[in-house]
Amino acid sequence: MTVEHGTGTGVHAADSLTADGLTVADVSVAYRRDEFVVRGASFEVPRGDVVALLGPSGCGKSTLLRAIAGLEPLASGTVSWGGEDLARVPPHRREFGLVFQDGQLFSHRSVAENIAYGLRVQRMARAERETRVAELLELVGLPGYGARAVTELSGGQRQRVALARALAPSPRLLLLDEPLSALDRELRDRLALDLAELLRGTGTTAILVTHDESEAGTIANRVLRMRDGRIDS
Ligand code: ADP
Ligand code: MG
Repeated sequence: MTVEHGTGTGVHAADSLTADGLTVADVSVAYRRDEFVVRGASFEVPRGDVVALLGPSGCGKSTLLRAIAGLEPLASGTVSWGGEDLARVPPHRREFGLVFQDGQLFSHRSVAENIAYGLRVQRMARAERETRVAELLELVGLPGYGARAVTELSGGQRQRVALARALAPSPRLLLLDEPLSALDRELRDRLALDLAELLRGTGTTAILVTHDESEAGTIANRVLRMRDGRIDS
């Protein structure tokens, strides 16, 4: 596996047996007893990689992503990071960032307050927080938008803010669930290019869930196909 953007340095002999990144091993998820929606999914996301989970609606992509985030219990299998099993690590302690299709911004807060959310949780000092928010606004192409109300933004701008909010605390893994699917085609193609560039430029490790083949190809450096709860090998 090649890591193009130099986020990883040399692997030391001592930890060469430990995967540096995410390992999903034989994960199954069921909402009802014995009705498996994800069936024995196994894959790795080495640090710096952007992997797409591509498949039709209803095949179990979001369920698998939520299981990786710790939001759905596993019926079997393990999710680990750097060799550490995350079974007992709650979602907010996994250092994973999440972006959903509809952004799920706090609509009564400003753009800057939305982006600063995770930084407040981390208890970052105010001055540092303001610098970081400005940095993120620049990164997602919305410089100077901090004071705006979220309700004044277009759909594309909202998704940029959702992305900035997820990236602000420097997550070790970014989980993107159809982040562009609610947008119209033209905007989607443009944002896909921006997102690809942003992820590569920042060396972000990410999983993109999508049903859109071209989006997967534009954004990810590896595409895993999913069908009926299984990942094709
Ligand atoms: P995708 O994201 O690929 O569209 P999902 O993971 O959302 O697929 O859904 C996979 C299957 O699990 C579907 O049949 C869906 O109806 C079912 N499902 C999703 N969420 C729940 C839930 N909370 N409770 C019960 N069934 C669910
Ligand atoms: Mg889904």
